[in-house]
Amino acid sequence: THQVHIIGGGLAGSEAAWQLAQRGVRVRLSEMRGGGGSTPAHQTDGLAEMVCSNSFRSDDDTKNAVGLLHHEMRRLDSIIMRAGEKARVPAGSAMAVDRDVFSAEVERLLAEHPNVELVRELVSELPQSGLTIVATGPLTADALAASIVKATGEDRLAFFDAIAPIVHRDSIDMSKAWIQSRWNKRTEASNEDGDYINCPMTKEEYLAFHQGLLDAEKGEFKEWEANTPYFDGCMPIEVMAERGVETLRYGPMKGVGLDNPYDTSEEHPQGKWPYAVVQLRQDNKLGTLWNMVGFQTKMKYGAQVELFRTIPGLENAEFARLGGMHRNTFLNSPIVLDRQLRLNRGPHIRFAGQITGCEGYVESAAVGLMAGLMAASEVAGDDWSAPPRTSAMGALLSHITGDAEASSFQPMNVNFGLFPPLHEVKKKQRKEAYTSRAKTEFGEWLRLRERVPA
Ligand code: FAD
Repeated sequence: THQVHIIGGGLAGSEAAWQLAQRGVRVRLSEMRGGGGSTPAHQTDGLAEMVCSNSFRSDDDTKNAVGLLHHEMRRLDSIIMRAGEKARVPAGSAMAVDRDVFSAEVERLLAEHPNVELVRELVSELPQSGLTIVATGPLTADALAASIVKATGEDRLAFFDAIAPIVHRDSIDMSKAWIQSRWNKRTEASNEDGDYINCPMTKEEYLAFHQGLLDAEKGEFKEWEANTPYFDGCMPIEVMAERGVETLRYGPMKGVGLDNPYDTSEEHPQGKWPYAVVQLRQDNKLGTLWNMVGFQTKMKYGAQVELFRTIPGLENAEFARLGGMHRNTFLNSPIVLDRQLRLNRGPHIRFAGQITGCEGYVESAAVGLMAGLMAASEVAGDDWSAPPRTSAMGALLSHITGDAEASSFQPMNVNFGLFPPLHEVKKKQRKEAYTSRAKTEFGEWLRLRERVPA
């Protein structure tokens, strides 16, 4: 009999199973593909199938946050990194793999492991008891999704993401933008000066921007995505623009109730309201990341960067992530999960992978890795100590389990905006400073964990 039941043999579930099995914990790994189920994106029955790109992105652990995540995962003997190494194909500084070799290697290592029982079955309900890790991914099977909704409460599980671009705060030009809430409205959580960064537009700028939205190259919804209802309250910005030239000016880009301090003209019957405005709202507790309110979009990434950098104040914007909209099952983790990825309303259930609101193969595997470590601690009766907040793993974990703004929570890639800021370090050296601080503190954490003398 097993000690931990893992549901879903994708990137996260495979990694969690490996971490547990290697620590002597007996695992049942349930995967529906090959057992009567599949998803619209998967094409094989192999474990850890990469459904789209064959890349784990940058492998540079000195200047890149996802490269740093690779480094930390390797130090924890990640199966995803191990199999990735075996399947590696040339890709410059990126880590790309032969997806079939990769998946076969993950499956071999797990299927041959004495502590892993691999079962091809579709699980349609959350188990009532027993340590469980749910790692069923962005395309979780419907019946199980319904069971999750029942456990978390309505509106806590999303079936579509609507991602507005997120900008690094220190790349916004505050000599053009200013901080203010519309009508200076405040709540108890408000900052003293206001809660929004406002980027003003003149009439000419607005009209050019509107045309830019119409002209921009857009991605297509896949057929199986287009049939999912999702438009309630999160229409793509370009679709809004198509409805008429004024629609945005009466929607997310309205200037009323905002006083542009840079406007020096004399005539202001109603106040110094800009003709139109782009507003950004704080996206994490650290205050390093701000999202462009209402700007969820299907525009191609290159087109987004080009157009959004024409917005006054965002000429040099660096994007922690660009906008997107996809079919994507994910929890409002900051509210429904505790700091150990356990369901507040049923702590025998842990979640891992993309369903926790991280985004990407590597991030999903990293959260699977942590879920595995956490469950192993629980089985052993040890106290869990989280990876340091300054490491890639710790930063990602902190974000999804509480530091992200719950009301606008959307899936997130690992990026330096999630790390405690290093304002005192010059911008040019900051990336290296983040990774070197991370490596030191992650190394100390590992030594304490494994009780290896320094
Ligand atoms: P998955 O890898 O999807 O694993 C979940 C597993 O659970 C699957 O094997 C599934 O069959 C199984 N399962 C589901 N429900 C049940 C059930 N009820 N019972 C038993 N088993 C079940 N990320 C990138 O980094 N690069 C990309 O190019 C990329 N492209 C993507 C394209 C698409 C179409 C999608 C949907 C996502 C993409 N992602 C990409 C995002 C994400 O990184 C991957 O989806 C990643 O595989 C997530 O890992 P996971 O382990 O959470 O989920």
